[in-house]
Amino acid sequence: MAQRLQTERQATAAPAIELRGISKAFGPVQANRDISIRVEKGTIHGIIGENGAGKSTLMSILYGFYKADRGEILIDGRATQIPDSQAAIRAGIGMVFQHFKLVQNFTVLENVILGAEDGALLTPSLAKARKVLGELAEEYELDVDPDAMIEELSVGHQQRVEILKALYRHADILILDEPTGVLTPAEADHLFRILKNLKEQGKTIILITHKLREIMEITDTVSVMRRGEMTATVMTADTNPEQLAELMVGRKVLLNVPKGPAHPGQTVLEIDNLRVTDEDGVERLKGISLKIHAGEILGIAGVAGNGQSELLAVLGGIARGTGSVRLNGKELDLTGNHSDGQSRRANSIAHVPEDRQHLGMIMDFTAWENVAFGYHHDPAYQKNGLLMDNDAILADTAGKMERFDVRPPIPTLAAKSFSGGNQQKIILAREIERNPDLLLVGQPTRGVDIGAIEFIHKRIVELRDAGKAVLLVSVELDEIMSLSDRIAVMFDGRIMGERLPEKTDERELGLLMAGVSGAAA
Ligand code: ADP
Ligand code: MG
Repeated sequence: MAQRLQTERQATAAPAIELRGISKAFGPVQANRDISIRVEKGTIHGIIGENGAGKSTLMSILYGFYKADRGEILIDGRATQIPDSQAAIRAGIGMVFQHFKLVQNFTVLENVILGAEDGALLTPSLAKARKVLGELAEEYELDVDPDAMIEELSVGHQQRVEILKALYRHADILILDEPTGVLTPAEADHLFRILKNLKEQGKTIILITHKLREIMEITDTVSVMRRGEMTATVMTADTNPEQLAELMVGRKVLLNVPKGPAHPGQTVLEIDNLRVTDEDGVERLKGISLKIHAGEILGIAGVAGNGQSELLAVLGGIARGTGSVRLNGKELDLTGNHSDGQSRRANSIAHVPEDRQHLGMIMDFTAWENVAFGYHHDPAYQKNGLLMDNDAILADTAGKMERFDVRPPIPTLAAKSFSGGNQQKIILAREIERNPDLLLVGQPTRGVDIGAIEFIHKRIVELRDAGKAVLLVSVELDEIMSLSDRIAVMFDGRIMGERLPEKTDERELGLLMAGVSGAAA
């Protein structure tokens, strides 16, 4: 009897997953280096690390997508081979991907049973699945309409279908790779409730994210990866965001750039009843009115796709709009004619576009050519129009790269050879050092690592402290909260409200972002 209890206790003590000495190289890149980790049963275990740290590779090994060069996988204490995803599913592992793998023109129910062991498209299995789905929805707040077409569902609901699929296959261990990147704050909250419910029912969850706030909010344990190595595993209750950031980056990082009070001066930009209609005749901006002062950062919060891109595009002179926009009292041309990007620059508007891959840079051209391009108005002439002193541009670019800590600081390297964060620094250097009256900046730190975020935030605050006006568009509420002197929330082409960061919180902003007006101030 005692013997049996003892054995049982040992069995429950075995971690749900144990990885021992996992290594994986892609050619010269050592994506995972001798990684060992234990994930205890019934816990939410976070994995955090900068871009390229090796998180997805490690999870792909666990899910049978990649074969490790070395190392062992133990599930429930037993050494287990996972050569493919079928083996992972048999071992009780379910994966929710960054990019969903659902069939768009199938229903929820059909997607759930597709590929499951009893998953032929037969009435009995559909009926059974309907029943199971109903139970799962009940138990975990995982409600989705089983008969809805996937293509009709919001991303938040599509993600729930992915989770349902895994649970339908009896997953005990659920891996989620950056699940909140595509969600609104309300959807993310709901996802976290689902994850907590799953944990209470004894499921084990691995949550990959680069968002420190999510780690602190929901995980029990957190492992940090840096450059292919597992640098630490700590109890979440025993750590804090600053320590985690330092473990991720390998040096101290300021998560909130220090920033004194704003001293707003005269009105730099005055927008009145600005409207933009897209090529399909859909109105994207429905009468925006805003003011931005010198020495002030106005943050535009909102879920992507609510008109922020159109706002930046029309202010940057690359889209047509109606209404009135005055810069330092002077009316701007809103006809979006293609030479206007140039006249905007002459008017001292700098623009760091959201979509830097397409609008910010020409990827096949060198860093120095990209730095020079801002001086040319017509993309078709950018190459031939370079009747400039190339040596001077090269030297200037080298200086910018050094001041903006671009790595590697080589002006003759093609733009595409730099990481996303370093491309962003090159564009920022080009735009900020032109010393504009107004900086338009969209998603300044999208895809940028935490160390570079600190740097970029400092430069933006410096520009504001130099008396310039900044219009910041970001889908990251943390970024909006820590940089903005004033926050305007956009929803469906309108400004839902303006708030002061010290007098609001993420909850209130989240409601405004979801179109709930009259959210308490
Ligand atoms: P993370 O998920 O932490 O951002 P990844 O695991 O995706 O990191 O990538 C780790 C490293 O391995 C990166 O340098 C990445 O470029 C490289 N890598 C990942 N997958 C592949 C692949 N299929 N082929 C070549 N290199 C890869
Ligand atoms: Mg990844």
